[in-house]
Amino acid sequence: MKGLCILGATGSIGVNTLDVASRHPDKYKIVALSANSQVERLVELCIKYQPEYAVIADENLLEDLEKQLNNINSSVKALSGIEGLETIASLPQVDYVMAAIVGAAGLKPTLAAARSGKRILLANKEALVMSGQIFMDEVKKNNAELLPIDSEHNAIFQCLPEHYDKGLAESGITKILLTGSGGPFRTKAISELSDITPNQACAHPNWSMGRKISVDSATMMNKGLEIIEACWLFNTNPDNIQVVIHPQSVIHSMVQYSDGSVLAQLGQPDMRTPIAHALSWPERIESGVEKLDLFAIAKLEFEKPDYERFPCLRLAEESIRKGGTAPAILNAANEVAVASFLDNKLKFLDIAYIVEQTLKNLPSRAAYSLNEILEDDLSARKEAEQLIKLRVEEF
Ligand code: NAD
Ligand code: MG
Repeated sequence: MKGLCILGATGSIGVNTLDVASRHPDKYKIVALSANSQVERLVELCIKYQPEYAVIADENLLEDLEKQLNNINSSVKALSGIEGLETIASLPQVDYVMAAIVGAAGLKPTLAAARSGKRILLANKEALVMSGQIFMDEVKKNNAELLPIDSEHNAIFQCLPEHYDKGLAESGITKILLTGSGGPFRTKAISELSDITPNQACAHPNWSMGRKISVDSATMMNKGLEIIEACWLFNTNPDNIQVVIHPQSVIHSMVQYSDGSVLAQLGQPDMRTPIAHALSWPERIESGVEKLDLFAIAKLEFEKPDYERFPCLRLAEESIRKGGTAPAILNAANEVAVASFLDNKLKFLDIAYIVEQTLKNLPSRAAYSLNEILEDDLSARKEAEQLIKLRVEEF
């Protein structure tokens, strides 16, 4: 029996994780759940899954959470804040931590899971993008296990040989082929992109996801973040990663070998597959995902990515080549710009502009500590907010 902590239990990945885990009550025990501010939703999950702990990240809502749990005579222990999240990620009775908080907010609790030597099911790509080296070092030092949930990275992991950590070239690997659907605006006229609304941007053709990652998919910053994520997970660099646009989202990524073989992982665009894979690895469990019907799909297509249309791809690649705190600055500026766009305060095409200007205006540091990352993350947020204010005044 494995004890499971879900950071970000009320989100899209969190709910899918609960769905898979609850199909196997003999294998997984839900020990702890967290949410940002949705107290009622968190209490509903407590009633349904009976964890030992529930954490509300917003400290002002702790009293409310306690009251609601009290009202139903629940014995679930309520905690709050970053400390609460770090506590549940490190509990001795927790074996697996699903890191499914969105954005930089997930960094500290995910690092806490690494430091406590847990199996980390990593959906929160922003944490790895920000702190790559530190995160990977903590995983190694503390004998934690890191299993990718991002469908592409999970697919790559499945296509890699067992001992790929001796080096990709040494394992006969010539390229990682990172697929992406191209999002909802792959073929839309660029002139029409300026007036895109948040709901249009969040209407992904193949995947149902949280709003931030949906906007990232529309700008293709998501694929950029995934290039950075792949560099850290598989100890490689952007020269060895080729983005392949594959509009059907049936192939979730591929690995090309020196003998000409290309291994791919295929499946429905349903996150329960990578979640089930990472929960049960190296075994396989039922996930509730519909079987793939190749005859219904009939056709798979591939295109080169369009770097003109999607400047975020270039910005992300540049930032990982630069290294140091540059990816953390990119990520922070993007989080602020996406939040403004979702709040109808910034135009869709200006997201890339804000990220690019923030990277231009702020120097990054070559080597870094966690404190320096958090400092540069904060400076980038302030800079991006300032730039957004100026941009809005221009119109
Ligand atoms: P979501 O918005 O649906 O859920 C986010 C979760 O994080 C919620 O439980 C929310 O309460 C919590 N949260 C938000 N802000 C927080 C804060 N400041 N402090 C603590 N908790 C906070 O997002 P999602 O789509 O489930 O994505 C979660 C992560 O997984 C993201 O990093 C995303 O990039 C990654 N991911 C998601 C998918 C997908 O299909 N949804 C696929 C691949 C990767
Ligand atoms: Mg992905």
